[in-house]
Amino acid sequence: MAVSYTEIAIAPEVTRFIAQPHKLLIDGEWVEAASGNVFPVYNPATGEIIAQVAEGDKEDIDRAVRAARKAFDGGPWRTMTPSKRGRYIWRVAELLEQHSEEFAQLESLDNGKPITETRAADVPLAVDLFRYMAGWASKIEGNTIPISMPGKYFAYTLREPVGVVGQIIPWNFPLLMAAWKLGPALAAGCTIILKPASLTPLSALRLGELFIEAGFPAGVVNIVTGPGQTAGAALAAHPDVDKIAITGSTEVGKQIVHAATGNLKKVSLELGGKSPNIVLKDADMEVAIRGAANAIFFNQGQVCCAGSRLYVEQAVFEQVVEGVAEHARKIRVGPGLDPETQMGPLVSDHQLRLVSGYVEAGLASGATALSGGRRYGEQGYFLEPTVLTDVKQDMQVVQEEIFGPVVVALPFKELDEILPLANDSMYGLAAGIWTKDLSKAHLLAAHLHAGTVWINCYNVFDAAMPFGGYKQSGWGREMGHEVLENYTEVKSVCIRL
Ligand code: NDP
Repeated sequence: MAVSYTEIAIAPEVTRFIAQPHKLLIDGEWVEAASGNVFPVYNPATGEIIAQVAEGDKEDIDRAVRAARKAFDGGPWRTMTPSKRGRYIWRVAELLEQHSEEFAQLESLDNGKPITETRAADVPLAVDLFRYMAGWASKIEGNTIPISMPGKYFAYTLREPVGVVGQIIPWNFPLLMAAWKLGPALAAGCTIILKPASLTPLSALRLGELFIEAGFPAGVVNIVTGPGQTAGAALAAHPDVDKIAITGSTEVGKQIVHAATGNLKKVSLELGGKSPNIVLKDADMEVAIRGAANAIFFNQGQVCCAGSRLYVEQAVFEQVVEGVAEHARKIRVGPGLDPETQMGPLVSDHQLRLVSGYVEAGLASGATALSGGRRYGEQGYFLEPTVLTDVKQDMQVVQEEIFGPVVVALPFKELDEILPLANDSMYGLAAGIWTKDLSKAHLLAAHLHAGTVWINCYNVFDAAMPFGGYKQSGWGREMGHEVLENYTEVKSVCIRL
């Protein structure tokens, strides 16, 4: 059946921004890549090229690192009062909020995600993150330490910025990931080279314009677009970068760790997941079914903490799984810029083929698609929201991160069975529990190997709540005050009195 779409009219400022040349932000100036090369950016809803972006590589990374080093060692950024630094970050939040609709449209166009979600989640969460981190600039404190050595001493700690920081971000939440990375590093007084994902560089580049408008000193925030294998790798290996942070795949995370060994730069990693979402038979069924569907289908399933393994107590398995499949069948799939759209395209042709390949492999090993399983339409990179049953714990679709709108559902009989199943994963990013029995919920939460456990909710993010993974889901935490540990060094000072 043909579905008609009504896309919103693109705002003139979005059209203007897209049409302009997209250069690298180095030392406060927009510059071409040293090679003069550019690469195309596509609209995932149509497959058409929407912009050409400067293709930075090692030489550009070198330039950006020199600018960030100069700004860190000699510039005013780390020496200005914390209150003033906080006001700069707050100003970015204000500018971003003033341009909310523009960013919502740009993000939807570049990534494909529904405009209703960029308006409700990506942009306001990014604004909130900058505001929250602006407050931390003046609250990064050391301690006084009562030491026990004989004699009289006064000992205390200082928290100092770690220095020049490389930050590599993914394509699934381009603006929000830029905010998660930049906000805390700036609050700590670091200077930065940000490398956006090549599939979705536009919102980070527009954000770069806001940093200039906010009056940031030159070299504090540098943005270098370019391929991960060249520009990203050069940043991770650079001998004058003090710290590298990435959100991305576990495979690339491991490459970053290797690349960082040259100067033993500090590393923090926010990587993949295959998160268990557990429904007990006493849960509020309506809430649990809707919650389980949203846990996997939000952002086309391209979420590192997506509830992609659905474990349901046997007595309610049919009801829950059929309910989630029914929900999936009703999801309106379409271009992100149609306000009626509930699920947009996957980010790229490659991602569509990757996710479809997982579904085919699952079906070939005996899984059943209770809903979806096929490409949707002929243009763009759409996939039907998919629920797979008749799967076994050791199947590839249960073990590996699919990163698309595909959930695998498995029943369990006794509560004792669920923890070994849920924890049987190389990942440990998040988990969900749906039950009215809060004792059971807390007991399960305590034993799940996951950085975040949501109970009777899912995908709740807040600038104040730390996020990150156990096991191969990463090192360190984003957000909350914990993230500041990624961007500060602790110095002990001890005086004999
Ligand atoms: P990648 O991990 O390949 O990319 C993430 C970022 O790392 C991008 O900016 C990328 O640049 C960069 N990068 C790639 N290779 C290197 C390298 N050798 N050195 C330094 N930086 C590098 O993720 P993909 O975007 O390719 O997605 C693949 C899979 O990763 C997904 O299917 C999903 O499983 C997982 N993923 C997880 C995310 C999460 O939030 N945890 C987010 C995105 C993906 P470039 O864009 O130029 O390749």
